[in-house]
Amino acid sequence: MPNRAAQKSRISLVKCAAYKSAEVAAALEKAFALLGGIGVFITPGSKVLVKPNLLMAVPASSGIVTHPEVVRAVIRELKKINCRVLLGDGPSAMNLGKERVERVYEATGMRLLAEQEGVELVRFEKHRMRKGVPLSALLDECDALVNVPKFKTHTLMFLSGAVKNLYGLVSGPYKTELHRRYFRPEQFAEVLADIYGSVKPALTVIDGIVAMEGDGPGTGGRLRSQGVLLVGRDCVALDSALAFMAGVKPEGVLSNRAAARKGLGNCDLNAIEVLGEPLEAVCDSAFRPPSTSITAAIPGFLLAPLQRLMRFFKPKIDRLLCVRCGECVKICPVKAVRFIDGYPRVEQGKCISCFCCHETCPARAIKITRSWIARLAGL
Ligand code: SF4
Ligand code: SF4
Repeated sequence: MPNRAAQKSRISLVKCAAYKSAEVAAALEKAFALLGGIGVFITPGSKVLVKPNLLMAVPASSGIVTHPEVVRAVIRELKKINCRVLLGDGPSAMNLGKERVERVYEATGMRLLAEQEGVELVRFEKHRMRKGVPLSALLDECDALVNVPKFKTHTLMFLSGAVKNLYGLVSGPYKTELHRRYFRPEQFAEVLADIYGSVKPALTVIDGIVAMEGDGPGTGGRLRSQGVLLVGRDCVALDSALAFMAGVKPEGVLSNRAAARKGLGNCDLNAIEVLGEPLEAVCDSAFRPPSTSITAAIPGFLLAPLQRLMRFFKPKIDRLLCVRCGECVKICPVKAVRFIDGYPRVEQGKCISCFCCHETCPARAIKITRSWIARLAGL
């Protein structure tokens, strides 16, 4: 396999202020033109799997999921070169039943979009092992994967962008198992990098029109108008551009660091050619990174052993906001959450700080708090 990091990666960055169909289509067309056209990435007439980020059953206005207008623009570009498009995602980190997936497609607007654009809406029901991880078998049935993530912060990985979005391809129950087995951030980053290396999307289009800052990627984050679309093949380069916008060092994003070390992409901004808008031109106000990202300042050789010894952050449930839906209990990979006196409670001795509960809580009721050791260390 050629070492992608040895070459300069090219990505395009274009401004797009709103989710208006014509505006998004024009911006995406421009982004492709800067890179030589969509044909540089996708062979005309291919069967293509388009994978947006559909974390949970919420409307696009929540900013938690990829906006349907971005997906629509991608589908239309693919149709221009006679591609057959399949659209789908494996939502959330739990073993959802058929009905739950349908609810996600309904709420996020993907069902309507698929009907309007005449494309097949698919569920990730069958899986095949790739490098020890069960990934959607649709990857084998399609000629190319088109990755359409949302630009969001992420409390465990700092960033949910191009590489993190591919985690949705993992078989439902196995997502939880991977979180349980590889719970330390640097371990989980290795898993993400391996998945990226295994599936290699032919093309990635990032929805950064409305981005998420703070404690994303779910209801705990805050929306901000970022007004950008990013396009390219190198997911590490794309995530490095997002990291720059988010005010985090690209190599401080653990999945970037892991993927770059494996030779899967560039996280050195000097080795990334950004066509269109310069990165500095879209960083006009301070971006609030996730509260956990303060550990990005700790050198990698120190961070890993420290995290083996202690937890810097932990989840805390706010009873006033909790709607007692039980999602946190179902999703916790180590069964550290249970209902006591009618409310969920985290058994901190069991908790592995994977923050799956924070990610899936529909009511912003789970906060990330610093442990005493983090406070002592001045984090
Ligand atoms: S997921 Fe959130 S709202 Fe639901 S029970 Fe847990 S803390 Fe409460
Ligand atoms: S309580 Fe939350 S953060 Fe702790 S292990 Fe369970 S899901 Fe992960």
